[in-house]
Amino acid sequence: MSLLELRHLSKTYPGANGAVVQAVSDVSLTIAPGEVLGVVGESGCGKSTLGRSLLRLIEPTAGEVLFEGRDLVGLGKRDMKSVRRDLQIIFQDPFGSLNPRHTVGGIIGEPLEVHRVGTRAERRARVTELLKLVGLPEDAANRYPHEFSGGQRQRIAIARALALEPKLLVADEAVSALDVSIQSQIINLIADLQKRLNLSIMFISHDLSVIRHVSDRIAVMYLGRIVEIGPAEEIMTAPKHPYTQALLSAIPRPGAARGGRIVLEGELPDPANPPAGCAFHTRCPKVMDICHRQRPLLARPANVEPGSESEVACHLYEAA
Ligand code: SF4
Ligand code: MG
Repeated sequence: MSLLELRHLSKTYPGANGAVVQAVSDVSLTIAPGEVLGVVGESGCGKSTLGRSLLRLIEPTAGEVLFEGRDLVGLGKRDMKSVRRDLQIIFQDPFGSLNPRHTVGGIIGEPLEVHRVGTRAERRARVTELLKLVGLPEDAANRYPHEFSGGQRQRIAIARALALEPKLLVADEAVSALDVSIQSQIINLIADLQKRLNLSIMFISHDLSVIRHVSDRIAVMYLGRIVEIGPAEEIMTAPKHPYTQALLSAIPRPGAARGGRIVLEGELPDPANPPAGCAFHTRCPKVMDICHRQRPLLARPANVEPGSESEVACHLYEAA
């Protein structure tokens, strides 16, 4: 059974001049226990809105968020508080998300206090355990966030997110603010913790090279919709959607032919005024007539290699 199942999740915002911005459109997906789902797409494609909607930090406009079979949409404050123990998020900015006036021990122990877990001594012991888990020294508990580097601060944020032993973690651009060398340390830490704790993770990033190693499956988003979803291995070796192919071509890979980069023309269209038909048609190198008129549905294609498990929304493929 899925730990998390999103059914037809949508989120709209009021835009300028009475326009409606469709940030997330009809997204359905599942995450199994212990599974890592990477979500990738350009900034503004709706992936952060998706991650926040499933924790109800943002209220979805339509659709269901089933967590262990129970719809979180419409859940009262009290029920939601108990569910929050199981659902945690880490953000991009380790500077902004840690209260500068609190000690690191206070920050990591705060969720334990809010949820009244254990005695004071037990909470303190748990903080020590969490610091060790994320590779920080024990005396970090008595220091303040500004005394730590960006990577260390992200370790603090991870320790706090794990304090209540969540089942699902949303990592929203969790390494994007860090130097590349530090990025891989934090990615490795998250991957290691994922295995040890059998966490489910939604790993959101604009950078395919960040999520490729940690993800079991990858969902590619464009203008609020999933355009391709499948096993990470298949997405990385046999991408089907022209947008996924373009994202992939931008990653330097050992052994890959040089000059294979697909450069997308134009900017991401205005989400308040998405192109008709396939929303990608204004930038797609393989655009056809039908793409201007008809929106392709996400489906498992028939005319691809046998054993393919991906689903793709593109008229180049016939639905199975
Ligand atoms: Fe390109 Fe058409 Fe496929 Fe959209 S449906 S990705 S425009 S080929
Ligand atoms: Mg974002």
